[in-house]
Amino acid sequence: MPQKNIVLKGLGAKYGIKHRKSFTQVHHLMKQKRKCPECGGSIIREAVGIWTCKKCGIKIAGTAYDLKL
Ligand SMILES: [Zn+2]
Repeated sequence: MPQKNIVLKGLGAKYGIKHRKSFTQVHHLMKQKRKCPECGGSIIREAVGIWTCKKCGIKIAGTAYDLKL
């Protein structure tokens, strides 16, 4: 049977598979590529709930790990 390789991010083995899997899910959600509605540049998460455009510097309020435009 072929094994599916899932790359788990961040947490070490001591945290257990359940938390490592959910951490990975959130991590990928957070690091998704998002486009700025103003200039089309990339948006990064500056702090919890604060998202900033790298190019034009616009700040957008979102949820802690996700941004819905
Ligand atoms: Zn922008």
